[in-house]
Amino acid sequence: MKQILTLLIGLFVLFSCKNENNSISEAPISSKKANSTEQTFGIVIHGGAGTILKKNMSDSLETAYKEKLKEAITTGHAILKNGGTSIEAITATINIMEDSPLFNSGKGAVFTHEETNELDASIMDGATLNAGAVAGVTHIKNPINLALEVMNNSPHVLLAGTGAEEFAREQGFEMMDPSYFYTEKCFQSLQKVKAREKEKKNKAVSFEDPFIKDSKFGTVGCVALDQHGNLAAGTSTGGMTNKRWNRIGDSPIIGAGTYANNATCAVSSTGWGEYFIRAMVAHDISAMMEYKGITLQEAAKEVIQNKVPALGGDGGIVAIDKDGNIAMEFNTAGMYRAHMNAEGELVIKIYK
Ligand code: ASP
Repeated sequence: MKQILTLLIGLFVLFSCKNENNSISEAPISSKKANSTEQTFGIVIHGGAGTILKKNMSDSLETAYKEKLKEAITTGHAILKNGGTSIEAITATINIMEDSPLFNSGKGAVFTHEETNELDASIMDGATLNAGAVAGVTHIKNPINLALEVMNNSPHVLLAGTGAEEFAREQGFEMMDPSYFYTEKCFQSLQKVKAREKEKKNKAVSFEDPFIKDSKFGTVGCVALDQHGNLAAGTSTGGMTNKRWNRIGDSPIIGAGTYANNATCAVSSTGWGEYFIRAMVAHDISAMMEYKGITLQEAAKEVIQNKVPALGGDGGIVAIDKDGNIAMEFNTAGMYRAHMNAEGELVIKIYK
């Protein structure tokens, strides 16, 4: 009898510890799940990671970023609250950030070396493991919508360049004049990098150079868990200032920039794309949860604080797991980010 009692106490302690581990996220997204069988839901977004310092930010710009993050996340949250799907929520949320000149996606996309804007996006459905992505599109207002179209209405996962746009036209997408993507801020960032190249006697400026590093943040991403228990992730970007040769980063690469699996979590990345591809960041986080049985927070920390920096890269992720626990991990000075849980509690942050 005494042995059985000891065993029961042991099991109780073990489970209590596990619950504590599960909720070491910045803020547990919901307390509901622990007490009831009701399906919780939640949403997390990022607006890019990089050298985002308070000293370089005016009060009005900081307010503008926070307001846009709030508008975006509350839109997605309302969809989830009304029983909408995680795919619907992340698409609507990302559309708001794509339409804002504040972020490096859609309207605010950075410029290529040739002074054009080439946009990449991807989306993944954790319920079916279906995915869609586009790379190097130049006339699409909301690339995340085209990624969704690829997922839903094509036999493919990733379409690029003129072919992707031909598909878009066939599906009835509006074609924007490339001038729509012009923003003075991004154009001037490119000019600065080009002047720097001239200084260096036309030697290409490395992505490592602060001139590029400091202007590359702003990619947008969103992950969500809906009331049906389904996870989804999406990411949209203009890539990196001064990119050339049709360079494509991690954002449209499933497993690197975006990944979702109902068995584990949904992840959206932002950062130096070459390293995020090499580290397969989004899938690695999911795989570590699946194979090692560790929490989302532990997996995200290992990848962003150890694996990516060990290669020489930087950036961050936002993620949510099947129980509504969240992670917002980054190894840069800042990351525009926000999360909102089933109870409607909203957290918006920019700096470390
Ligand atoms: N990851 C994006 C890219 O490499 C850029 C970013 O997130 O800032 O294209």
